[in-house]
Amino acid sequence: MIPVRGYENAKVAVLGLGRSGLASARALEAGGAHALCWDDSPESRAAAEEGGLTLHDLTRAEAFDGIAALIVSPGIPHLYPEPNRIIARAWEAGVPVDNDIGLFFRSLAAGDWDQYDSAPRIVAITGSNGKSTTSALIHHILIENGRTSQLAGNIGRGVLDIDPPGDGGVVVLELSSYQTELARALTPDVAVFTNLSPDHLDRHGGIGGYFAAKRRLFAEGGPDRAVIGVDEPEGQYMANQMVETAADDRLIRISVERKLTGPGWSVQAKKGFLTETRKHRQIATVDLRDIKGLPGTHNHQNACAAYGVARTLGLAPRAIEQAFHSFAGLPHRSQTVGEKDGVRFVNDSKATNVDSAEQALKAFRKIRWIAGGLGKDGGIASLAPYLGDVRKAYLIGHSARDFALQLGDTPHEICEDIDTATIRAAADAEPGDTVLLAPAAASFDQFANFEKRGEAFVAAVQRLIGPRDD
Ligand code: ADP
Repeated sequence: MIPVRGYENAKVAVLGLGRSGLASARALEAGGAHALCWDDSPESRAAAEEGGLTLHDLTRAEAFDGIAALIVSPGIPHLYPEPNRIIARAWEAGVPVDNDIGLFFRSLAAGDWDQYDSAPRIVAITGSNGKSTTSALIHHILIENGRTSQLAGNIGRGVLDIDPPGDGGVVVLELSSYQTELARALTPDVAVFTNLSPDHLDRHGGIGGYFAAKRRLFAEGGPDRAVIGVDEPEGQYMANQMVETAADDRLIRISVERKLTGPGWSVQAKKGFLTETRKHRQIATVDLRDIKGLPGTHNHQNACAAYGVARTLGLAPRAIEQAFHSFAGLPHRSQTVGEKDGVRFVNDSKATNVDSAEQALKAFRKIRWIAGGLGKDGGIASLAPYLGDVRKAYLIGHSARDFALQLGDTPHEICEDIDTATIRAAADAEPGDTVLLAPAAASFDQFANFEKRGEAFVAAVQRLIGPRDD
């Protein structure tokens, strides 16, 4: 645990008692503050009280008297579509509002690192897509190379739950836009921006607000090093803001779409090859084509970002390349879960909408596509340009018939459930085919969540081909 510094003997209110709220309350207490906790749900309150935390009704009129700060959980809207009532009351009372990320950076800045040979480094990853994969990949590369690394934030442990980073330790921190928007301290050593796509716009009042939330990580005087995806104008803009000169090597630009020709430091992937360039000189190339855990251009973008971070942390290109090969991928995200007789089985259950299904469809050839579930507005009409490599679709769930109508000439059959679809797809598959679960739909018609759907697919695959040996 990281004890929170700066609130010794003060009363700090904590709103929201999920994983991050509970960790904040405990870390505040460990640092000598009095954490006063609240959640709308009576069950969450009871559980917190049972765990020894103090409740404090934040809905009462005088609730903020004598309170030094309010710490809120990422799930609670503070601005759009409208501010949570309790947060609005804290503002009226002039009480600073913060979150666990702000507490974390504030507490680390007060850390006592004089005795260390090398100070801990915090790497923060943000962007619309690929955050979890990039974070997990950076962590994997570091561990494979004997470095000490902890994965925290949206993925891994709550940020205040991790162990204080020791000599030379790295903390890899995945941050959502909700978290960066609210945090009152944001001082990573290395900041990563993967890409930007319209997502969660309701919470940020449109794309400008969403971008502003991400951008806070790169504010002037910000990170020592930044790794920025420049395939969208917003990334270009941020990259430009970071540099003093064209060759400024505090910045690594990454791209999978453009040819980066400037004198600066860049990492780009084209046709399956990653290239690192600095001052117009090619430093290294890595063949990404056979790396099982990182299929598709979207994963090549994640690979470029992770490579850039690992280079800023002093790792050699070959050491990074080796670690790429042993990266298993994250569960439910373009993850190879089995292979038999030349047929590959890939679980991309996280593809709950057409945008992520598109990435998966672009990543493979000769696809036996398992799709369907609780479809979203528009169904799969927008996927028409990406169906060229689909040999046949096996449709499941509530949307099966609607999807069938939108498939045009693409062969398909209605299978209803995932077991049948997997059996049918495997029976039809020929060597070189990929059986791909990328539903382009939510899972809630047949499963509790996308993880359960992915697990059901993996179980069906294992029944067919036996468990994996690794
Ligand atoms: P996040 O943590 O940002 O949600 P994940 O790494 O969990 O990202 O990936 C979520 C989904 O988004 C995956 O199923 C994949 O299809 C897609 N994805 C992953 N990386 C990228 C990327 N760089 N660009 C676009 N889509 C991506």
